[in-house]
Amino acid sequence: MRTITLNDGFRIPQLGFGVFLVDPDDTARTVRDALEVGYRHIDTAAVYRNEEGVGAAVAASGIPRSELYITTKLHQSQLGRDSAMAAFDASLERLGLDYVDLYLIHWPAPATGLAVESWLALEEIQASGRARSIGVSNFRIEDLEPLLAAGSVVPAVNQFESHPIFQQRPLRAFGASHGIHTEVWGPLGQGKYDLGELPALGTIAERLGATLAQVVIAWHLHEGVIVFPKTVRRSRMEENWAALDIELTDDDLAAIRALDRNQRVGSDPAEVN
Ligand code: NAD
Repeated sequence: MRTITLNDGFRIPQLGFGVFLVDPDDTARTVRDALEVGYRHIDTAAVYRNEEGVGAAVAASGIPRSELYITTKLHQSQLGRDSAMAAFDASLERLGLDYVDLYLIHWPAPATGLAVESWLALEEIQASGRARSIGVSNFRIEDLEPLLAAGSVVPAVNQFESHPIFQQRPLRAFGASHGIHTEVWGPLGQGKYDLGELPALGTIAERLGATLAQVVIAWHLHEGVIVFPKTVRRSRMEENWAALDIELTDDDLAAIRALDRNQRVGSDPAEVN
């Protein structure tokens, strides 16, 4: 298992499995398959409405809790100290766990002005031992700065949209300079554009006998970011897992870096409130 050590000393498996848009009724089966394939890191969120399914698969797996890494997230409608505490309790209950490995503020929701207060609540949760690590998601530099100024814990991660045509290198660099590790969501562009339209990927994939998705996941892994592609198909879970074995050259990495067009496919954090 390839792991990364976060700024609080805890280790996270670098390749995980995301369950955004996995039907709540199909989540236990999907996560069971992912665990059988080898994934040990599952990324969910309260708003995905499938924490119960994740918890059910974890409980049924027989895998020791210490070998699993579970992340969930605080929805922006529950920002504020007291609602964050209540939301966290409810997530733990739905997951059937007594701690999560990582708890994130899902979106900064700048119009609410509640991100910093919520961050201090996450610090309390961490101090209680019920979240080993705490972090943020979809925070821009301007959202991170007040949090770094007011908080006593530096977020362990910032999870944001990043894929070949929307890499967000300045945000990665800002995080790195503060010890905040990057987690990428939408690593495959959420299937919203055809990876085959990017010729550099096709050339690399053909040379290596790999699929386009494998090349992109391998690129994320070589970049050193934490990545958790989503699929409900077991064959794709296996395909994505096999990206761990793909070796890219410096030229490959540079060619994929050059695909950046600063073109997001998901929501703009300024507009999610
Ligand atoms: P993704 O880039 O992982 O794309 C998922 C899509 O890619 C699926 O439709 C799937 O059919 C397709 N796919 C997966 N493997 C494939 C393969 N081998 N070949 C071809 N197609 C393949 O997008 P995502 O699910 O949005 O992002 C991954 C995870 O990130 C989510 O599941 C979730 O856990 C997290 N996420 C977080 C946020 C946030 O705001 N923090 C937002 C979106 C997603």
